[in-house]
Amino acid sequence: MAQQKNYSEEKIKLSRRNFVKFGGAMVVASALRPPTWLRQDQSDEIPMVKNYRILGRTGFQVSDISIGTTRVREAEVIRYAFDCGVNYVDTAEGYGNGRAEELIGEALKHIDRKKIFITTKLGISEDETNDSIKQRFYKCLDRLKSDYADALYMHGSRSIKMLNHAGFHTAIKELKAEGKVKYCGVSNHGPRGDGESMAQILCAAAEDGRFDLMLIVYNFMNKDESEKIVAACKKYNVGATAMKTSPGMLMVESFDPDNLSQQQQEYIDRIMSRGTAKERALERLKNRLQSQQESYEKSRPFVEKYGVKTMDELQNKSIQWVISNPDMHTACISFRSFDMIDRIVPLSGTKLSTADQQFLEEFKYVFNNQYCRHGCNQCANQCPYGVPVSTIMRYAYYYQLQNNEKLAMSKYYHLKQQNAVHCFGCEAPCTTACPYGVNVPAQLATAHSMLTLV
Ligand code: SF4
Ligand code: SF4
Repeated sequence: MAQQKNYSEEKIKLSRRNFVKFGGAMVVASALRPPTWLRQDQSDEIPMVKNYRILGRTGFQVSDISIGTTRVREAEVIRYAFDCGVNYVDTAEGYGNGRAEELIGEALKHIDRKKIFITTKLGISEDETNDSIKQRFYKCLDRLKSDYADALYMHGSRSIKMLNHAGFHTAIKELKAEGKVKYCGVSNHGPRGDGESMAQILCAAAEDGRFDLMLIVYNFMNKDESEKIVAACKKYNVGATAMKTSPGMLMVESFDPDNLSQQQQEYIDRIMSRGTAKERALERLKNRLQSQQESYEKSRPFVEKYGVKTMDELQNKSIQWVISNPDMHTACISFRSFDMIDRIVPLSGTKLSTADQQFLEEFKYVFNNQYCRHGCNQCANQCPYGVPVSTIMRYAYYYQLQNNEKLAMSKYYHLKQQNAVHCFGCEAPCTTACPYGVNVPAQLATAHSMLTLV
């Protein structure tokens, strides 16, 4: 295990950084209720992972909670996760243009490299050569400050055909021979348009035999599709990692323009940095929170029945649901703070209670038509404009549930003519094709206003 350190000092240092950044809002918040993540009275007590599972044919004993790095901004947060017993870290060349890999490299200085399983990913084009893939991967290793990665993934394989990418497999073979890579993996979020679904692509990858690991959208709302993939992983002894584990939306923040929360202030800063006036930025935030408030009011009877009032509580139960399946080897969580690690690592080794299972079942029933399943393609071929429905809904998920507005807006921008502008006034043949009854034009219109500055 990593050599442990006293974290109270780092937590205080990071809190001060935020304090300076967010000014007056933090003064008020701190005076009323000190952030729990300071934990000055518990400096030697850190939560520890309690359950490890065999990661498919790699044989690696992986922690049931692992760390994803799309949102992390501090190497100390990664190091803290390692010290808590988390021993699997997922990253990609594209996360922060390599910055996430650099942060892992910083965190690795303090631990025994061999105890951590590192996966990184490369998105590849159809005609990319093995040499180009290798050159990009060597740069990943430079940033990771490691001689090797445990696995290199094909990032977001878009089709079954891509699974056979000759350049990728030649690169993997050569990198293995050089001792730079041990295993080969694949991730998928589903199609961009009307291609094959996530389940079709990843089940084919499991059967293919060359992929030792895969990253799967797996949560209680998309259980039916995803469990086909988990079963295929079990059959072919492929390591299974869950991502996008928390699909639900329950809570709203209050809005006080004179006393913004940290997340709200980040949102305002971000859109002002793109040239939007402060008044307009505040108006956008207010509209966004009002629409969340309306949806909260609709769900209030449900929330009161089960007494679940915060997104954190819902996320905890969602993660417990994932790790309750012994065939899912690890739940990859995008940690961004000490606080989040303190809350989620204690879930390791726990199971959902019967009451919580009932809660999630009912949640799924009540909110069935409000969640567009990641990786689904069932309505895509109905759209005359080629709007990639589940892809846009995924960007909205990054924005709303992962608070990753910058990534979401940037990805949406790159859709260009395939964006949801077409949905305004459309008769929506996609909606009748959706087996879950998702109101596609309404949700895409909301996503469009959320993901653009106009
Ligand atoms: S509402 Fe119309 S334009 Fe939008 S995704 Fe559905 S079919 Fe396509
Ligand atoms: S709207 Fe329905 S059919 Fe279309 S991608 Fe989402 S879940 Fe699938």
